Amino acid sequence: PMNAPGQARTTVFTQMSALAMRHNAINLGQGFPDESGPDHIIEAAALAMRDGHNQYPPLAGIPQLRQAIADHQRRFYGLEPDTEDGIVVTAGASEATAAAMLALAGPGDEVIALEPYYDAYKACAAMAGATLVPVRLEAPAYRLDAERLRAAVGPRTRVLLINSPHNPTGTVLEETELAAIAELAVERDLIVVTDEVYEHLVFDDHRHRPLASFPGMWDRTVTISSAGKTFSVTGWKIGWASGPADLIARVKAVKQFLSFASGTPFQYAITEALNTGDDYYRDYVAGYRERRDFLVAGLADLGFTVTEPQGTYFVTTSAAPFGAKDGMEFCLDLPERCGVVAIPNQAFYADPDAPRPEVRFTFCKPLPVLQEGLDRLRRGL
Ligand code: PMP
Ligand code: GLN
Repeated sequence: PMNAPGQARTTVFTQMSALAMRHNAINLGQGFPDESGPDHIIEAAALAMRDGHNQYPPLAGIPQLRQAIADHQRRFYGLEPDTEDGIVVTAGASEATAAAMLALAGPGDEVIALEPYYDAYKACAAMAGATLVPVRLEAPAYRLDAERLRAAVGPRTRVLLINSPHNPTGTVLEETELAAIAELAVERDLIVVTDEVYEHLVFDDHRHRPLASFPGMWDRTVTISSAGKTFSVTGWKIGWASGPADLIARVKAVKQFLSFASGTPFQYAITEALNTGDDYYRDYVAGYRERRDFLVAGLADLGFTVTEPQGTYFVTTSAAPFGAKDGMEFCLDLPERCGVVAIPNQAFYADPDAPRPEVRFTFCKPLPVLQEGLDRLRRGL
């Protein structure tokens, strides 16, 4: 994976999706659903185009969408971002993350992230001239060790970059873990950037609670999310950041020289999507819960060691029971051997070349596709 500017390595997602195409494999690697989002949202985008909403939107996003984002934050979490100054619509969570890093961290600064971490984090920190400091969530439980986090904070620490529900492990940080992060951030006067793109993909009795809702946190937290996951439109790249006016102003200042603005008709459609009734969100998570249970049971039955995800649409496994020591080698071999693609978790570690046996599968595919994937693994492994 690309870890620093000037390094020409493609991301592991590009690499593995190319292998999926070449071998006509079932792609349980890169996280994108096979089905488009709900019809009425697709129609809303088409309608917006026909209505002539095809030119630049305002830098911060169309006012209706900012209102819908504010309403969503209030409805689900009781948070009240200001629709004028407290929200910026971005080209996916990716741009929000990049802009936040460029705005809030600089040369000599350290950004702490929970390892394994989404590969863009290290690249974004590097683009800002900052250094990413990993704090390990240990396999196979992947819980936060608050003491380890505390020990990682030093004089150069500027930002805690937190992700929950967590890609790739499926960990949903619990109240006590979040409270420990919040306490530390307040005590050490740190900015927190929190990637909550899987906020609506939380299973069983687990709950997503935004870090911004903890005492002392609103004024120091930039909360990032995206429509891609929640409404199954990853290609639309509509994301957003919300928080206090001073931090959002800094994110906007950078964003104006990245994309400036993007996706006008999609912004109209996502306005409608966010305003959808609770049924949508409930059915969405129920559907994914069934898929999770199916894939988790199937992989365990095949002999993988599985960490059951509490959230996201990913499951982290260990391929060690198949003799695999190097997940990259295992995943490079898997498409030809089995006709299935997965992602080696080592791509999400500070040293992506250090072999690890963990492999991530996604369950954002229909049950018959997951079944076919499992059948192929059974035949080939
Ligand atoms: N953060 C995490 C944790 C993700 O998994 C992803 C997408 N896979 C993103 C950010 C990027 O989101 P977007 O497509 O909205 O840019
Ligand atoms: N976030 C998606 C994943 O983790 C991939 C996005 C990308 O291709 N960069 O699978």
